[in-house]
Amino acid sequence: MTDKKRTAGSLKLLGGRLCLDFVNTLDWRGTDSPQEFLKTYDDLVSWSRHAGICSQQETRKLYKMAEQSNAEAKKVLNRTLKLREAVFRLFAAGIANRNPLKEDLAIFNKYLSQSMKDSQITRTPDGYAWDIAGNRAKLDWVMNPIIRSAAEILVSDEINKVKACADSACGWLFIDVSRNQSRRWCDMQDCGNRAKATRFYKKKIKDASRKDAQAPR
Ligand SMILES: [Zn+2]
Repeated sequence: MTDKKRTAGSLKLLGGRLCLDFVNTLDWRGTDSPQEFLKTYDDLVSWSRHAGICSQQETRKLYKMAEQSNAEAKKVLNRTLKLREAVFRLFAAGIANRNPLKEDLAIFNKYLSQSMKDSQITRTPDGYAWDIAGNRAKLDWVMNPIIRSAAEILVSDEINKVKACADSACGWLFIDVSRNQSRRWCDMQDCGNRAKATRFYKKKIKDASRKDAQAPR
């Protein structure tokens, strides 16, 4: 709801992991009117550039390719949103200590197998490295690093460090890497401060009414 989080290309990246920042492209999940930042395929590209998935040159190429195949770009956006929501539900289940829905794991695995099909090992000066981006001639390659990021958290201890912002209306997810696992807010400057202000306001009202009650008649 704040100006700082206004567009896909300028959203704060506070999740600590790519897939969590991706989940946070839907803001105010806990309210009746969540705010969607990925409304078009171009939004997805702009976010991908912002999050470091694609270079400036790759970004330009994706915009151009999308312009030439509008219908395909729309389909990719819809698939991306479906992936995002499945990833969110998997993490939300973990946060709530619930088993995930089989359907959500199945959805995720479908995306995962596609991204693995597109992945390869490449030779580097130091040895070998994963090239997980896959076929850059396709509009959907930007999804692959996100899928990989989610898979890595799901199979590691990091799954236990994924938390939701203490402001349930906000709904942003993040990885809590603080030593004593004490991080509560997606952003201390934003949700944290708002909560502090609300507490302060409530206390002021309470103090005022107490004073009124104690006031001599
Ligand atoms: Zn928050």
